[in-house]
Amino acid sequence: MMKLADIIDENVEELAALDTVDNGKLFGLSKDWEIPGVAECLRYYAGAADKIHGETLKMSRELQGYTLREPMGVVGHIIPWNFPTSAFFLKVAPALAAGCTMVVKPAEQTPLSALYCGHLAKQAGVPDGVLNVITGFGPTAGAAICSHMDVDKVSFTGSTEVGRLVMQAAAMSNLKPVSLELGGKSPLIIFDDADVDKATDLALLGVLSNKGEICAAGSRVFVQEGIYDEFVKKLSEKAKTWVVGDPFDPKVRQGPQANKTQFDKILSYIEHGKREGATLLTGGRPCREKGYYIEPTVFTNVTDNMVIARDEIFGPVMSLMKFKTVDEAIKRANDTRYGLAAGIVTDNLNVANTVSRSISSGIVWINCYADLDMDCPFGGYKMSGFGKDFGMEALYKYLHVKSVVTPLYNSPW
Ligand code: ADP
Repeated sequence: MMKLADIIDENVEELAALDTVDNGKLFGLSKDWEIPGVAECLRYYAGAADKIHGETLKMSRELQGYTLREPMGVVGHIIPWNFPTSAFFLKVAPALAAGCTMVVKPAEQTPLSALYCGHLAKQAGVPDGVLNVITGFGPTAGAAICSHMDVDKVSFTGSTEVGRLVMQAAAMSNLKPVSLELGGKSPLIIFDDADVDKATDLALLGVLSNKGEICAAGSRVFVQEGIYDEFVKKLSEKAKTWVVGDPFDPKVRQGPQANKTQFDKILSYIEHGKREGATLLTGGRPCREKGYYIEPTVFTNVTDNMVIARDEIFGPVMSLMKFKTVDEAIKRANDTRYGLAAGIVTDNLNVANTVSRSISSGIVWINCYADLDMDCPFGGYKMSGFGKDFGMEALYKYLHVKSVVTPLYNSPW
C-alpha cells in the first residue's frame, strides 16, 4: 500500500487528467488536492494495517474472553462518478488494510481512472485476485455484486434510490452487511454575527465546488435576517463573476456537469423552481456554446416545502432562505429526509454548540465547509445512509468482531 501511494504520487497528472476528461472536474484541483489526497489515504490505512487488534474482556465469571477482528472476506465496492479516484481509494484502502479481497465497480460514466488504478495496483505488487476492477452498468454489473452469494459485504456510494436497491438485493441474497453513503440536502446556517464577505465565499464554495456534484453540497443556505439583504447583494455580485469553462484552464472555477442526464436533470429542477415561485437571483441557464455548462444559480424566496429545497439537485444550484431565531434555524435545517452534513457560521460559542448538537447529520462544520481529513469519519444519518468513509471507522466496517471465550482456570471437563 505504501508502494502504491508512491506510484500514485508519480501518476498525479495522469489520474487528474483522466478524471477531468471523464467527469469535467477541475484539473488543477484534482492535481493539487484530490489525487495527492488519495496517496495520503493509502498511507493512512497502510499505517493502520498492523494495528488491528481486539480487546481483552472483563468477564464477570471465571472465564477468559477476548475479541479478534477478522476480515469480512470478499467486498463489493460500488463507486460513484463525482469523485472517481478518491471514492475508489476511500473504499479500497481500508478494505485492503483490513485484509479483504474485493471487486470494484466504478460508475459507468467515469471508469477510466479506476482501470488505471487497477493497473497501478498490479505494478505496486498487489497480488492477482485481491483487487479486481470490473466496469459495467448499475442494474447489471452493480446489481450482480449486490445479490452475489459469495460477496460478503457491499460498500456503496451513490444515490439514495439506488442505495435502497443495494440493501434490498443484499437482504434478498445472503444478508450481506452493507454500508451506504448516499445523498444529501445539507444546510449551511449563517448567523447575524458572521463576516458577510467570508460567509458569501463559503456559501458559494459549499454549493459550487465540483460544480455542485458533491453529496455534501451546502445547497440550502439559511441566513439570519439582520444580514440577509447585505448577504444577498454580495452573493449575487460574486456569483456573477464566477468563471465557468474549460476545466483544464487554471482561471476557471467551474467545469461542465459530468454528463447529459445530469445536465438535463439540473435544468429541469431550475425550471421547477421558477414554476414554484422562487426568485432567480443569478444564473439559471446553460452557458457556453458547447458542453454541459450551467451558470452558478441562486434562488431566493425559497420556501421549505418547495421541491428545490427538498430534493438533492447535485448541481450548481443554491436555495437561499431567511430565518429569525436559533430554534427556527435548527427546526428548518432538520426538516429534510437527509442527514449527511451541515455548516454553521458564527463566533458565538453557545450558538455553535447548541446548533451542532441539535442537527441530525453525520458531520457539522463550524466556520468552514466541506473540510475533510483522513482521520475524520464521514457518512450520513437518516436517508443519507450509514457506515463511514475516512478514519478508523471505515476500517472497522470491513472487519468482523469475533469473541473467544475459555475457562480462566481448570476446565470442568
Ligand atoms: P447517480 O444517480 O448519481 O448516477 P447512482 O446511485 O445511480 O448515482 O450510481 C452510483 C453507482 O451505483 C454507479 O456505479 C452505478 O453504476 C451503480 N448502480 C446503479 N444502479 C445500481 C443497482 N441497481 N445496483 C447496484 N449498483 C447500481
